[in-house]
Amino acid sequence: MPTATKSCIFCDLIHGAAEVSVCYEDSLALAFMDIQPVNAGHVLVVPRRHFESLSDLPHDLALHLFEVAMKLEPVIRSVTKAEGTNMIVNSGAAAGQDVFHYHVHIIPRKAGDGFDVPLPWAESDMPNRMQLDACAARIIAGSQDCMRSRYVAQDVAAD
Ligand code: 5GP
Ligand code: ZN
Repeated sequence: MPTATKSCIFCDLIHGAAEVSVCYEDSLALAFMDIQPVNAGHVLVVPRRHFESLSDLPHDLALHLFEVAMKLEPVIRSVTKAEGTNMIVNSGAAAGQDVFHYHVHIIPRKAGDGFDVPLPWAESDMPNRMQLDACAARIIAGSQDCMRSRYVAQDVAAD
């Protein structure tokens, strides 16, 4: 969704209607300090325009935001003396997204800081190779369908 239909706290921050500590900006993106950081230096990279989730984001803008995150990550690691980082996107309510303005978390980490992204997840079963292969085959077929519909759309646009 390209424009905010409901009130959006990140749009408010971007438009200067609320306090924010910005650490990077360009014409398309902004990065600022998370108000409730996992660790000091926890940054959110956001598009200036309102898009809810990953599936709403134009491809080029998604790549740009990832590029910004890739530029900031070593800087954040260095200034916070972090030993590692998590780069996380929660896309959709089911995936734990709380603020519905797309954002990339950059979370500096230190051993024993108590935060955890519990992967591999202890509660999940290990599928057998046939099940993994079947999943892979469905994704391959889905990608081919996706490419085909993109080519058809391009052909129609060219006509
Ligand atoms: P999500 O769960 O949507 O991936 O993460 C939302 C993040 O936004 C959380 O880490 C939360 O602390 C942060 N956040 C929520 N409200 C504000 C705010 O008003 N200002 C800032 N800087 N961060 C916020
Ligand atoms: Zn917004």
